[in-house]
Amino acid sequence: MSEGKDIIIIGGGLGGLTTGALLAKEGCRVTVLEKNPVIGGGLQCFRRRGVLFETGMHILGGFGPGHNLNRICTYLGILDKLDIRPTDPDCMDAVTFGTETYRLPGGKEAFTDYLAGLFPDQADGLRRYMDDLWALSEEVDLFYLRPDGGSMLRPHSDDFLLPADEFIAKYVTDTRLAELLAYMNPMYGGVAGHTPAFVHALINVLYINGSAMFVDGSQQMADALADVIRAAGGSIRAGDPVTGIDVEDRLVRRVITRGGQAYTGDWYISDLHPCTLLDLLPEKAFLKSYRDRLREIPNSYSAFSVYIKFKDGAQRPFVNHPCYWQEEHGHVWRLCDPDEASFPRGFMYLTPPTRGQGPWADRMTVNCPMPFSAVSRWADSVTGHRPPEYRAWKERVLQQVLDKLERACPGIRVDIDFCFASTPLTIRDYYGTKEGALYGYNRDCKNMALSQLPVATKVRNLLLTGQNINLHGICGVPLTAIETAEALAGRGVIVRKINEAYNGRNQGL
Ligand SMILES: Cc1cc2nc3c(=O)[nH]c(=O)nc-3n(C[C@H](O)[C@H](O)[C@H](O)COP(=O)(O)OP(=O)(O)OC[C@H]3O[C@@H](n4cnc5c(N)ncnc54)[C@H](O)[C@@H]3O)c2cc1C
Repeated sequence: MSEGKDIIIIGGGLGGLTTGALLAKEGCRVTVLEKNPVIGGGLQCFRRRGVLFETGMHILGGFGPGHNLNRICTYLGILDKLDIRPTDPDCMDAVTFGTETYRLPGGKEAFTDYLAGLFPDQADGLRRYMDDLWALSEEVDLFYLRPDGGSMLRPHSDDFLLPADEFIAKYVTDTRLAELLAYMNPMYGGVAGHTPAFVHALINVLYINGSAMFVDGSQQMADALADVIRAAGGSIRAGDPVTGIDVEDRLVRRVITRGGQAYTGDWYISDLHPCTLLDLLPEKAFLKSYRDRLREIPNSYSAFSVYIKFKDGAQRPFVNHPCYWQEEHGHVWRLCDPDEASFPRGFMYLTPPTRGQGPWADRMTVNCPMPFSAVSRWADSVTGHRPPEYRAWKERVLQQVLDKLERACPGIRVDIDFCFASTPLTIRDYYGTKEGALYGYNRDCKNMALSQLPVATKVRNLLLTGQNINLHGICGVPLTAIETAEALAGRGVIVRKINEAYNGRNQGL
């Protein structure tokens, strides 16, 4: 259905590039338009004083044998190009509350046995919770790469849309264990009473089944996807933002960039935050009710990130898994506390691996959930032209993070060669994401109709892709890319090819 079509993709993040690569394999001529000089969005890496840092893709899931990302990347022919390092099987995540640290092993059984051993009186409930967590993930066909009939998130059971905190509380009465089971909260921007259980289930199942990190950064995935597009005759135009989209008679007629280029195609696909997309479209493109709805959907929280380079010879241990730190119990669902004095209540930190990684780390990244309201007083400023008060605030907050990091990793300050921070404004301006939302729109079980967008729009040749549709991150975005690409290629067509390619390769066919 899509063969030979010209596809214009606006935004070269994971969503735009994966959708483009899938459609390139369907015989489409794909052009990706990216505003930044370097493609990738959340996959993009950058260098500071010659040292490589990742921006928005630190922890991976789904790359284990037979798992969804492994299958998708096998089909796209990029799996062997990716340098991925699994986290330690006996400790996929270390989770600290104050002075207690839990070293959680990977794999459903080992994970369950470890916690059942620590909380024996909760063991029965815990086992039922784990089984039901997996059962919830089974309700999302596309997560297991089964054809899904056109909508990834069709709810089935009552628990699907139960708030995640209430879902956990159904099985576990010990509040310490209940908090521990919610420790991945920063990986999905969880909000008590609002984040649906299925989001909690998909992210937990994804990572417990096998987590990993990119060796030498996530840029490699963006570059590999771009190669698939180019190999099929497509092109990537980076460094020239789209500034306008002409629409007539409910059809996109052309896309215009700041550099004055005009692009036309049969189909147009937006990987942008829908509010950013609205700013590029004429008002008449969508009904006011739809525009209002897009503007009203709440966004996930943002983050204050600290990037650290250690001194040469510092002998800071390389840790082969992420670490989640909270200063005490009681905040797991309130990590994004707007109270500046107590910031940060918790964070996730990791030492990203490099090729030939030895026992010592050379870098660390620390991500602290932060609401956009913390920086909204400087919302009118742009990168490179922020006022001095913002810079003073940023430095003060950076020191607060380092003070707490010192509690998590004693002696770390003296090992720091240099460090710097990014804020919700950085994320907003860099990706063009409303309010610097880490994961785009929030999924809210109290109002799923509001927070769930179909890939098709009322502009008949304009489709949506990316983290704001369905689910975010290394797994959610490629799964949505399949849904978007199948809107053109035919339902189930790409899923079938992905499974055939994977099964063929693994049967030596
Ligand atoms: C700090 C941080 C840490 C994260 N950590 C993880 C993690 O460990 N694991 C995980 O799975 N997920 C993580 N995520 C989430 C993950 O990065 C995103 O879900 C994913 O990268 C989103 O991909 P996307 O293509 O939907 O959006 P984006 O990556 O935002 O892509 C959108 C693209 O559109 C471009 N664009 C915007 N406006 C225009 C325009 N006018 N013209 C042309 N192009 C434009 C942007 O520059 C960008 O490249 C993290 C996110 C952040 C911010």
